[in-house]
Amino acid sequence: MTKKLVMIAGILCAILVILTGTILIKNDFLHKVPEVVETPQPTETPEPTEEPEPTPTPTPDLSRFYDTDSLLVCANKKHKLPDGYVPADLTTPDVQMRYETWQLRQPAAEAMEEMFAAAKEDNIFLVVGSGYRSEAFQKTLYDGYVAQSGVEYADSISSRPGYSDHQTGLATDLCGQDASYDLSTSFETTPEGQWLFEHAHEYGFILRYPNGKEEITGYSYEPWHYRFIGKEEAAALYDAGENMSFEEYYNIEGGDYAED
Ligand SMILES: [Zn+2]
Repeated sequence: MTKKLVMIAGILCAILVILTGTILIKNDFLHKVPEVVETPQPTETPEPTEEPEPTPTPTPDLSRFYDTDSLLVCANKKHKLPDGYVPADLTTPDVQMRYETWQLRQPAAEAMEEMFAAAKEDNIFLVVGSGYRSEAFQKTLYDGYVAQSGVEYADSISSRPGYSDHQTGLATDLCGQDASYDLSTSFETTPEGQWLFEHAHEYGFILRYPNGKEEITGYSYEPWHYRFIGKEEAAALYDAGENMSFEEYYNIEGGDYAED
């Protein structure tokens, strides 16, 4: 009897051991920690490379725009010429003129003669309608417009004395044979206006007040007003894009007069 009990107890024990083992194994499976997916090591943060030395912005040399001897001297509503400035090398170019005899600075006068001769070769007959204008002349002109139609109107079509491109002795108003187009935007439609638009830069002249650049230059479109700046500069400015203005190309302040 006791033997039987011992045997049963033994069997029960064995079963218990087996069951426990099975459960443990099962649990082990169940609780098996999923294989750790190796997370990629964060790549080493690169040593902060030394900040490149900021190249100092060179102070632009503005002297060529403010020195009256320079062919790039600027006269606009933001830059007045020295009081009573008169160019020292004014001369009368040997070309056809209208209204009166006009003078220009020597280099501009020579270039103008060359340009008029070249135009003639193309059967284009240019006429000078204006050249150098003294500060006093400009004052008479400007005051006349003011008396006629007020300051706002005068400022829109003329310069105050001391601010005129014509006082540099490097600017000219050009015309064709038909005077009815003089100082009119319709001059751009004439053969003379078109020839100038295409060729003036070859002789060092640029269209000083291009169409659509009123805010930048401070002046309405004037297809007749050309300004001598030298052949190389004029060609580069012309190539920089259609209707490129002097102020844009050289990054010079322009636009309207500064508030008083
Ligand atoms: Zn003009």
